[in-house]
Amino acid sequence: MSVSLCTDVLIVGGGVAGLWLNARLRRLGYSTLLLERGTLGGGQSGKSQGIIHGGTKYALHGALTGSSEAIADMPRRWREALAGQGELDLQGVRVLSDAHYLWSPGGLAGNLTSFFASKAMRGRVDQVSGSELPPALQHPRFKGRVYRLSELVLDVPSLIHRLASLAGDSLVRAEDIAPLIEDGELTGLLVDGLAVRATRVVMTAGAGNASLLQAAGFAQPAMQTRPLHMVMLRAPALKPLYAHCLGGGTKPRVTITSHPTPSGELVWYLGGELAEAAGVARDAPAQIAQAQQELADLLPWLDLTDARWATLRIDRAEPAQSGLVRPDNAFLAEQGHLLVGWPTKLALAPDFSDRVIASLERDGVRPTTQPALPSLPRPQEAAPFWEVLG
Ligand SMILES: Cc1cc2nc3c(=O)[nH]c(=O)nc-3n(C[C@H](O)[C@H](O)[C@H](O)COP(=O)(O)OP(=O)(O)OC[C@H]3O[C@@H](n4cnc5c(N)ncnc54)[C@H](O)[C@@H]3O)c2cc1C
Repeated sequence: MSVSLCTDVLIVGGGVAGLWLNARLRRLGYSTLLLERGTLGGGQSGKSQGIIHGGTKYALHGALTGSSEAIADMPRRWREALAGQGELDLQGVRVLSDAHYLWSPGGLAGNLTSFFASKAMRGRVDQVSGSELPPALQHPRFKGRVYRLSELVLDVPSLIHRLASLAGDSLVRAEDIAPLIEDGELTGLLVDGLAVRATRVVMTAGAGNASLLQAAGFAQPAMQTRPLHMVMLRAPALKPLYAHCLGGGTKPRVTITSHPTPSGELVWYLGGELAEAAGVARDAPAQIAQAQQELADLLPWLDLTDARWATLRIDRAEPAQSGLVRPDNAFLAEQGHLLVGWPTKLALAPDFSDRVIASLERDGVRPTTQPALPSLPRPQEAAPFWEVLG
């Protein structure tokens, strides 16, 4: 190998987990390189709904679980970063909505009403009505209860753009990545033939982690994927709506977020139960028909004659666990010099970085100064997912 590079931390994967970690490490003085084989944000991050959960959705059965407790601090951390006063300076990232809403088209189950009114939820869930309702629900025919959650919704392309700008020259487009094993130890990666040695390698490649681990000869941690079949629509009649619509179960019947296009029109992005198992089994026309039926049922006054529709299939990647239960926190596993993980939610990117930084500090891995990098190809940022609708 004629050329080689050294860095403190070598990160694989330019989604929110890798980009957030990269920006934090650089702020702490570490030298880093982040490798991306596609586009920045082009995996799950750019196809997410951008909700910075505080965990309330996971309390729909009427009690705070471990999940709701662990994630509860995330909106505060993101808000501080967005104001330029947090662990990262995210000023300039577009906030689509300062609140996400819970919307029950019928009455709420009695235990849920008293739970939302309880001390544990005070300040996190407030009932709203009249002009405080989300614009799309301000209609004389609207019936139901709406609760405002202290969770914000972000424009993910502007988030990815900001995180990429905090990365300096550390982002590298890499098509072929192979483990670099020396004396039986993973010491770095071969990146398109270039040896890159690092004190630590962190894999944040989302669904790509499994094959990277396999290539490096590691059987653990195991990964699971959870397929989703999302629906999007664009129509002149759409007004802003950021809400989980409650059904009878512990998961939202449908979760709707609204994404402005450059022309000012909105794209509604529909997830929740609609996009899960039964939705995954439908083909695109059947899934669109199901979404049309849901919206006609929930918002019958909505004129969607000129709407354009599309669906999007994407897998959520997470650590394997029994019964496909969602994990409570960001997940990080360590094997020698290799760290690998999944934030499990966009909102938990700060928690994921905390875990990596705690590992570096525990092992005494300190920032070092490395020579200036040669010119390396930089990955592009992903186009917004709704561009397919023109
Ligand atoms: C439809 C949907 C909606 C969601 N909505 C929300 C939400 O509203 N709020 C929330 O908190 N969470 C949400 N999530 C979850 C959230 O999007 C993910 O947990 C998070 O984005 C994962 O980030 P990541 O960086 O780990 O992975 P990714 O964003 O998937 O990024 C991984 C990156 O690694 C790259 N990569 C893969 N393999 C390789 C390789 N071999 N070499 C180099 N690069 C590689 C990929 O190209 C990709 O860019 C949603 C997820 C989905 C699918």
